Amino acid sequence: MKGERQVAGLWCSEVLARIYDFLDDQLAPDERARVEEHLAGCSVCASFGGKAAAVAAAVRARLSDPPPVSADLEQRLLGLTDDDPAS
Ligand SMILES: [Zn+2]
Repeated sequence: MKGERQVAGLWCSEVLARIYDFLDDQLAPDERARVEEHLAGCSVCASFGGKAAAVAAAVRARLSDPPPVSADLEQRLLGLTDDDPAS
């Protein structure tokens, strides 16, 4: 990889291979600390990590936030309970 360097004992390729695990908090604490240290000292990985973090955050937001029930559907559901044909 062009411009690859070693920071905090990790090469850029090693950091990038772990970046999604890092963002998902899947790394062992000591490994996580080394990745953080590398990101702090390496603008290339910090920039890539920032983009990856934005993607991961967007994916996570989609997973944890199901789309709200639309106002239209909500009205129809409310209508079903109000509009009882038996009464
Ligand atoms: Zn790097």
